[in-house]
Amino acid sequence: MGEFDLIARYFARPGPPGRSVALGVGDDCALLQPAPGMQLAVSSDMLVEGRHFFADVYPAHLGHKALAVNLSDLAACGARPLAFTLALALPRVDEVWLQGFAEGLLALADEHGCALVGGDTTQGPLNLCITVFGEVAPGQALLRSGARPGDDIWVSGTPGEARLALDALRGQLHAAPEVLAALRQRLERPTPRVALGRRLAGLASSAIDVSDGLLGDLSHILSASRAGARIDVDAAADLLAASACLSGAGGCFDHHLLMRCALAGGDDYELAFTAPPARREAVCQAGRDSGTSVTRIGAVEAAPGLRLVDGAGQPVQGRFPSFDHFA
Ligand code: ADP
Ligand code: MG
Repeated sequence: MGEFDLIARYFARPGPPGRSVALGVGDDCALLQPAPGMQLAVSSDMLVEGRHFFADVYPAHLGHKALAVNLSDLAACGARPLAFTLALALPRVDEVWLQGFAEGLLALADEHGCALVGGDTTQGPLNLCITVFGEVAPGQALLRSGARPGDDIWVSGTPGEARLALDALRGQLHAAPEVLAALRQRLERPTPRVALGRRLAGLASSAIDVSDGLLGDLSHILSASRAGARIDVDAAADLLAASACLSGAGGCFDHHLLMRCALAGGDDYELAFTAPPARREAVCQAGRDSGTSVTRIGAVEAAPGLRLVDGAGQPVQGRFPSFDHFA
């Protein structure tokens, strides 16, 4: 099968190209038509075999995750997904793999009304790069720079589940088969928090998606906002202990392990965000409306730096470095 047959079979779809897409796959450029007056939100993420995923991951899960991590960036910006492009390097044409990959990818795309409008396909070591396009009203995008002293710090979902899965898959942690299966879903098929992000636009003061670890990603908000924070590390560990994936057995896991996974584990694709205390009820409502749990884990402070405290407010020592490709 040649390059063009491959694109036609797996990545070009019949029918109208989709909302806000005037022209999809097949020409030199795609043409996008955001609603009048809206800003385009654009983001790219690359996934490399051995670095971001195991060679034996299910192709459908990989297709899902490749788009999910990109939609997560739109979520963190409060944008509505419109379309995406896919640049793909493949070692060989493996039709079973392509079929699964395209299924996982396009199922998530359909869920979000986000059309595949173009890309590039070449031979080479397996590597995927997606660029997503979304729209957001001017002045409404969630930035990293908007956190203010006194704001609450929130997280969506249950940060740390993906890291527990990774530790278990690497044999560094024992988990019962059903627990591992549930955790593995969180690692391989993360849910981008698009619905929550859109509701937080104009409500939260700042946001970021948690890809490299909660504290590390939060510190990007803090440095962009020239502020510091106090974080309740027990709240983060307790949240993970209560994870539905652990089916009630969270108490059997070591508390410090849960703390480390919650604070420094990557790959969660949850949202970390800040909002003034006066908006607590509105934030909870945004969580309910989007079917996403939201939990307060700390507060922004004027003094720079992260201060970790336990549930009783006492200082906690410990370093929880986040993932860095070049560290
Ligand atoms: P060009 O040579 O102009 O870059 P290509 O021959 O690479 O165009 O691609 C032909 C068409 O197929 C273009 O519309 C391109 O956007 C699309 N395309 C190529 N690869 C992919 C892919 N992996 N997924 C979706 N569309 C793709
Ligand atoms: Mg090309």
